[in-house]
Amino acid sequence: MAKQPKSAISPTRAEDYPEWYQQVVKAADLAENSDVRGCMVIKPWGYAIWENIQKNLDARFKATGHENAYFPLFIPMSFLEKEAEHVEGFAKECAVVTHHRLEPDPAGGLRPAPSAELQEPLIVRPTSETIIGATFARWVESHRDLPILINQWANVVRWEMRTRMFLRTTEFLWQEGHTVHATEEEAVAETRQMLDVYADFAENVMAMPVIKGEKTSGERFPGAVATYSIEAMMQDRKALQAGTSHFLGQNFAKAQEIKFQNVAGELEHAWTTSWGVSTRLVGGLIMTHADDDGLIVPPKLAPAQVVLLPIYRNEEEAAKVLPYVEELKQELEAQEYAGEPVRVKVDNRDMRGGEKKWQWVKRGVPIRAEIGPRDVAEDGVFVSRRDLGGKGQGTPRGEFIQRISATLNGIQQGLFDRAAKARDEVTVRIDDLDEFKEFFTPQNEDHPEIHGGLAYCHFVDTPEIEETLKKLKVTVRCVPIDGDDEPGTCLFTGQPSEKRAVFAKAY
Ligand code: AMP
Repeated sequence: MAKQPKSAISPTRAEDYPEWYQQVVKAADLAENSDVRGCMVIKPWGYAIWENIQKNLDARFKATGHENAYFPLFIPMSFLEKEAEHVEGFAKECAVVTHHRLEPDPAGGLRPAPSAELQEPLIVRPTSETIIGATFARWVESHRDLPILINQWANVVRWEMRTRMFLRTTEFLWQEGHTVHATEEEAVAETRQMLDVYADFAENVMAMPVIKGEKTSGERFPGAVATYSIEAMMQDRKALQAGTSHFLGQNFAKAQEIKFQNVAGELEHAWTTSWGVSTRLVGGLIMTHADDDGLIVPPKLAPAQVVLLPIYRNEEEAAKVLPYVEELKQELEAQEYAGEPVRVKVDNRDMRGGEKKWQWVKRGVPIRAEIGPRDVAEDGVFVSRRDLGGKGQGTPRGEFIQRISATLNGIQQGLFDRAAKARDEVTVRIDDLDEFKEFFTPQNEDHPEIHGGLAYCHFVDTPEIEETLKKLKVTVRCVPIDGDDEPGTCLFTGQPSEKRAVFAKAY
């Protein structure tokens, strides 16, 4: 019998999924915990993936007419007070700056100087609707100033109680789009457009299938009229909210006096939106694609799409292998994938071949090519695909180069298909409450983690249903936009229901 291969990550997903996640973050060199509770250090490989996320999204934002700008990290406390629901939503998790100087503490060490207390405390932005809205109020006078389409790349702070690297951190990196419009229709269209941008990015770049939908009233962004999200299914059958787009109606415009003179010369309140995705996407990437050997990065996001690993034992072999590898690198870089030159890295570090190879396996580079003296003699390369695993195979150099773009494309598509299949396998329609309860309750004593998934069920949006859901630790993810629903009966209240919502346990 074949020996069970040992995996690079321990524990495996089946053994302990949450711990597996932490180990992948570590083994793939993505990030580490810092000395500050809930805040992480993003390491170069993790940051390079984030930069590719940024680059790709930024191009999409610009293609849809948005411009980048930057606003202050600090928000006067009084700004937050203006929108009642907003302050209620965020007050619980605000970091507050109260002093502007330190002085020696008579009891030893340092303390904030009592004489340097701020007249008005400043909040470290948890999101920037209020400070950006106050700015927009100055920018908008006439209908000719509209629309305003702004995006900001920034860090934000939300004092989260339970943190996990990338998925939920106290400080995180994100982008926040903020727009102002003359009409309700235009603002709604913007909200939906950006949801589409996120969904397209998630599916076509991250190879992560998502459901687009509207959040229920209990899950709405504080102060929003409607919140839309993209929801992804992770390998442990839990959903992840991967991005949000909010239609803010005139709520913030009224709180902040964003008014414009319309064509008829009358003053009107404007309509605003906001939308964001964060470093949480990296967590989603891991939990969608990684396996028991570590991360798998889809080619479109991979900082290196191909890593070349020269193998030699002495100077004489190096003299043959290294020029061959350098030439191969240039030939590969002359090829294009997804409209850009193929990204190639040569790893010529002086370390054991096996250890080096496994580092790249764990980091999830799509293609590894090992080149030793024998490959040079045969004009070949030894190629391994990260998505397929296994041993890899010898390939003629010309064929490898000529097919590189098609191979990367195949990997990108294969990862999406695999994730979509995994999601479909745990997706059900349920029309009976007992069945719903059973679906979300562990059935297998040896593997209590294997239960649940995505359940499409009829429902009405009332707080009544929350009790049942809370007991099962299940949440309403969203009411899908692309649902093909006929009316039915709410699973929880028996009332008539227009549409199904998607229910799942979630991060
Ligand atoms: P929100 O402003 O609450 O709509 O959140 C915008 C985006 O940031 C969403 O995509 C969230 O998934 C993400 N997000 C919210 N809180 C955190 C956090 N603590 N860490 C990382 N990402 C977050």
